Amino acid sequence: MKEFELISQYFKGRGVQRKDVQLGIGDDAALVTVPEGHQLAVTTDTLVEGVHFFSDICPKALGHRVLAVNFSDLAAMGAQPTWISIALTLPKIEPKWLEAFTEGMHSIAEYFNVQLIGGDTTQGPMTISVCAKGIVPNGKAITRSGANNGDWIYVTGPLGDAGLAIEHKLSNISLSDDDFKLVNQRFDYPSPRVAAGQVLRNFASAAIDVSDGLLADLGHICERSSVGASINIDKIPRSAVMNDVLSAKQQRRFLLSYGDDYELLFTVPAELAGALAINLKPYGVEPVCIGQITANTTQIDLFENGEQVNYSGSGFEHFSQSSTN
Ligand code: ADP
Ligand code: MG
Repeated sequence: MKEFELISQYFKGRGVQRKDVQLGIGDDAALVTVPEGHQLAVTTDTLVEGVHFFSDICPKALGHRVLAVNFSDLAAMGAQPTWISIALTLPKIEPKWLEAFTEGMHSIAEYFNVQLIGGDTTQGPMTISVCAKGIVPNGKAITRSGANNGDWIYVTGPLGDAGLAIEHKLSNISLSDDDFKLVNQRFDYPSPRVAAGQVLRNFASAAIDVSDGLLADLGHICERSSVGASINIDKIPRSAVMNDVLSAKQQRRFLLSYGDDYELLFTVPAELAGALAINLKPYGVEPVCIGQITANTTQIDLFENGEQVNYSGSGFEHFSQSSTN
């Protein structure tokens, strides 16, 4: 099988066909129409074998995950995902692998009514890069820079499970088969908070998705908004597996420094906080308040059960010596 057969077999004509796509796969570029009164939101995320996923990852999960991480970025902007393009670099063409990969990819795209409108296929070490596009009503996008002193800080769900899965695979912790299955589901099939992100347009002063760890990602909001934050570690939602296998102190690094769960982290002005939970509930999301924005510029203070905690770990950064994942 060659490049063009591969494209027509696995990518072209599959999945949803949107009315706002005038020209999809097959020409030099795709043509789409952004609805009136909306802005285009564009994001790119790349997954590299050995850096973002282990070589033995199930290809269907990989197809899901590469789209999910991109949709998560759009969700954090309050945008609705609409179109994607994919740059696929593969060492060789393996039909079974491609069938499973594209099944995972097309099924999450279909779920969110997103159309694949183009891409690029090349040979080389496995690297998958997706560019996701979305739309957001003019001026309604949620950025990282709008947090204010006194705003409450929330997350959309439990943190740290994907980190548990990674550390189990690295043999640094040991989970039972059942526990591993549960937490690895969070790594393999993250659910981007797409609906919640759109609801948050009317509530959040700032938002980000937790991809590099709570402290690192909250740090981005603080830096961009010129504020600080105080976090109650004991309030951070976590799974039963996390509580069963680790002490509160051992849990800290998974809650604070591991990303990959793709929950949203966002800030809400006090006067809007009362109506938040009821507006997110129809979308299956229960926001949990974990702290408050402070005027203490770019410093994050950590508390556990009322006592201040010293914590030296950071989040994941590429090209940093101290990277652990
Ligand atoms: P060009 O040489 O002009 O870059 P290509 O030969 O790379 O065009 O691609 C032909 C068409 O197939 C283009 O419309 C491109 O967007 C699409 N395409 C290529 N690879 C993929 C892929 N992996 N998934 C979806 N569409 C693809
Ligand atoms: Mg090309």
